[in-house]
Amino acid sequence: MTITESQVRRWLSAVTPQGEPADLVSGGRLEWVSLLEGSIDLKLHLPSVAEDPKAMEAIAGACLEAVRQGAVRAGERLASLRVNFVDHAGHVIRSSAFQASPKGALRPVQPVAASEKPAAQDAPAMPSIGHAIAVGAGKGGVGKSTVAVNIAVGLARRGHAVGLLDGDIYGPSLPTLMGLQAMDPNVLDGRFQPFMAHGVKAMTIGKLVEAEKPLIWRGPMAHGAFKQLTEKTNWGDLDRLIIDLPPGTGDVPLTMTQQLKLSGAVIVCTPQRVAQDDAVRAAKMFEQLGVDILGVVENMSVFIAPDGTEYDIFGRGGAQQMAQRLGLPYLGALPLTMDLRANSDNGEPLLNFKSDTPPGRRLALALDELLNNLESQLALASVRQNTPTLTIH
Ligand code: ADP
Repeated sequence: MTITESQVRRWLSAVTPQGEPADLVSGGRLEWVSLLEGSIDLKLHLPSVAEDPKAMEAIAGACLEAVRQGAVRAGERLASLRVNFVDHAGHVIRSSAFQASPKGALRPVQPVAASEKPAAQDAPAMPSIGHAIAVGAGKGGVGKSTVAVNIAVGLARRGHAVGLLDGDIYGPSLPTLMGLQAMDPNVLDGRFQPFMAHGVKAMTIGKLVEAEKPLIWRGPMAHGAFKQLTEKTNWGDLDRLIIDLPPGTGDVPLTMTQQLKLSGAVIVCTPQRVAQDDAVRAAKMFEQLGVDILGVVENMSVFIAPDGTEYDIFGRGGAQQMAQRLGLPYLGALPLTMDLRANSDNGEPLLNFKSDTPPGRRLALALDELLNNLESQLALASVRQNTPTLTIH
């Protein structure tokens, strides 16, 4: 047996926040329940406490208690609970997560305190860049570069000044995904000029070396090339810089992550168990480096055929489940579609936001939701990172 949505609703009907005329459920304040094998995600819309973190914390605690007691009565295992407070547009404004310890006790998942953050946070901040966001994956081929490109183009469509840096030094795919093949690199005053494509400023090693030449650099050479690409590109003022990291958790992605002052990282994962195991390793790498994890994206979640029929090829929900198990935010799922594959191969990412076919509409909606969640998590990370921590000697 596993916990059901109606059980969660019943348990939460015991919670009436102070000042509310009714309980969360009958008052319509519980907007969304997501469940996966004992991991529960809630969305609450409570405008009266939107400005009051203490009140939100108290409500999250009351939800935890109600759900915990309900699960005990029903003999069900509660693996984790995340209580998201959303605004009228559905954007997350605060989120409290609790996770079961091996002995079953539920503990709050704490962000790493700023004072404990090592290496990466000591890296130099890049000038005039609002937020630098790394996109990583535990292994290659899960669609990390595709996700990075669509995040960059999607944020640019929303009016942000966006840069996209191809850190995948050994297998740069931006020239293809962004359609840069016909463009020539330009150097001005000793600095690389980024390629302007689809509203994004892009830079990739793939345009600075011969396309077919394998890049057999050893670690230090790869790090040096990445450092130069980052620092010697004339980015200008950017609101967001998206960095497509090399896959895996080896020396190269690790050192690159340390070279940047990141606002956070996004982890891309496909639903299968093997991909999840690798993604867990990527999450641990970012945690160890003191980098905030903005969330997990499930790519190739479900195949949508041209007629709109859905096929669960890889077992939809696997990455979401992994995120919930680790107490990480879940940013959403992108479907596997033939259009997305073709638009990527043809270097036309903007078409992913505009298609009118059944899979195309679903993809556009999924991208929109992913961007909403990412922006919410970025806002939360900014608050966390700018919150001073008390050190008592
Ligand atoms: P990675 O960066 O993880 O190695 P890529 O982003 O280069 O992976 O994607 C590998 C291939 O899979 C590319 O050809 C890409 O177009 C395709 N692909 C990735 N995600 C999807 C998707 N959701 N639907 C269709 N094709 C996809």
